[in-house]
Amino acid sequence: MQTQTFDLLGASPGLRHSLQVHRFGRPGARPKATLQAALHADEVPAMLAALQLRERLAALEAAGEVVGEVVLIPVANPLGLAQQLLGQHVGRFDLRDGVNFNRGYADLGAEVAGAVATRLGGEAAPNVAVVREALAAAAATLLATTPTQDLKHRLLREAIDADIVLDLHCDSQAVLHLYALTPQRDIAEELGALLGARAILLADESGDSPFDEACSRPWLQLQQRFPSHPLPLACFAATVELRGENDTSHTLAQQDADALVAFLRRRGVLSPAVASLPLPRCEATLLAASEPITAPRAGVVVFHVEAGEVVPAGAAIADLVDVYSGAVETLRCQSAGVLYARSGSRWAAAGQRLAKIAGRTLARTGKLLSP
Ligand SMILES: [Zn+2]
Repeated sequence: MQTQTFDLLGASPGLRHSLQVHRFGRPGARPKATLQAALHADEVPAMLAALQLRERLAALEAAGEVVGEVVLIPVANPLGLAQQLLGQHVGRFDLRDGVNFNRGYADLGAEVAGAVATRLGGEAAPNVAVVREALAAAAATLLATTPTQDLKHRLLREAIDADIVLDLHCDSQAVLHLYALTPQRDIAEELGALLGARAILLADESGDSPFDEACSRPWLQLQQRFPSHPLPLACFAATVELRGENDTSHTLAQQDADALVAFLRRRGVLSPAVASLPLPRCEATLLAASEPITAPRAGVVVFHVEAGEVVPAGAAIADLVDVYSGAVETLRCQSAGVLYARSGSRWAAAGQRLAKIAGRTLARTGKLLSP
């Protein structure tokens, strides 16, 4: 295992944060997988799973079983990890400007289109090499003026040329679920089966350029832009939500690390490239059909449904209690499906999302992720 530590751009004189990156296998070997944990820094179960994964990868490397290259960033957001505000850890948004740490990644697909236009030919493999090189070159030249921008660019550089990118997060209170691109449904379902995912949410574009899509969407964009040249989607990227933010458990972390190792085997990053596939616990559904249950006004929340319960259309999800009148409004879902995540707070501000159900029928448009 090679470990590199990068100093991030300082926010002010005397203040430094650093990013630690572990590398396994031979640099440049294929397939390359990049995994990172807790980009939203208050989503700590992911860091526990990454530590378990680091231990396994070190042992596999010593046994000569890392045939590709693996990059592991166990603490993807040291800036957010340090953000304490009035006793609360704030890891989702940058306190400097309120920007979500998992949004606004550089859209390199559009940027490299011109550079690759004259270099693409009639064979897939050389085309993949051309695009990878162009994406890596574009990522290398990104300029940052703030620590957060610097962090985002560095993370992107570690992942933009990878075959597999797994961004490990968690939700507030949730069962294991993941997000990936719609045309990569098969690989997403394979990953989901190994992890025991209860929901797999697919979109061609979920909006505001989250990290996983910044790595995977350029291939989709270029495929659509140059239809006469064979170009596979050469990067599978997924956001993996390792349950809820309070679900820190050694047993679960070990189980998740084992599942990730099995996935890397099946994708040929590790040898032997075999691992049995458990029976899936769900089929993939469209993120556009995921139904948010939103509080129409402020109130006290009393849930009727736990994360992981499968509900019929019309089920009572939560009561919203008006604190002056005592009036109780029952919030119901339109969709049947698994309630895969719910809010950790029991006070709802007006307009707040309280729960999410992996439905099949609704067709939301616009930005599909939580803010
Ligand atoms: Zn997150």
